[in-house]
Amino acid sequence: MTPPSPTQHGNASVEDRAAAIERALDARGWEPADFVEEQGRQIDEQWLPANGARVVARAWTDPAFRQRLLSNGRAAVAELGLVMPPHHRHLVVLENTSTVHNVICCTLCSCTAFTIIGIPPDWYKDLEYRARVVRQSRTVLKEMGLTLPPETEIRVWDTTADTRYIVLPEQPPDTLGWPLERLAELVTRDGMIGVARL
Ligand code: FE
Repeated sequence: MTPPSPTQHGNASVEDRAAAIERALDARGWEPADFVEEQGRQIDEQWLPANGARVVARAWTDPAFRQRLLSNGRAAVAELGLVMPPHHRHLVVLENTSTVHNVICCTLCSCTAFTIIGIPPDWYKDLEYRARVVRQSRTVLKEMGLTLPPETEIRVWDTTADTRYIVLPEQPPDTLGWPLERLAELVTRDGMIGVARL
């Protein structure tokens, strides 16, 4: 394999650069194709918002679990068989109330608790969202379809490499007593990011 010249490299498309990295990894025996395929499979089959939905529904119906979840999110989701990567050292659960609304972002890039709430949507990674949700949170939420009363306090949480978040939405009052599976169906990815209420 001939490595690209510096000029070629500077002009290469994203696809060409990705292919060059794959070739370099292949040459070292690191099998990137297998890794990429495995990541794709996990994204499609395992890292789904349905995981977080189960967590939320359980928290709504089991006060002891809710307490454990609020004090150590990582340990509590493990009770439900949900695994987080080792570098996601903390899962902080942000409880919405009638007066406090939480919303998450990653001002640097795209970090989320992706094994729990799913892979972030494209808008979450846009500079527009990352920059503006911090400074104009009420306006950005309104633009996204969530109009909060002026008296509701909005708390914005900036994800880091080792601290991930999930918003715990309020349970809709007319769903008290519903079975767990039915409650979980109400919980959306956007609700766990905090750009929607349920
Ligand atoms: Fe990030």
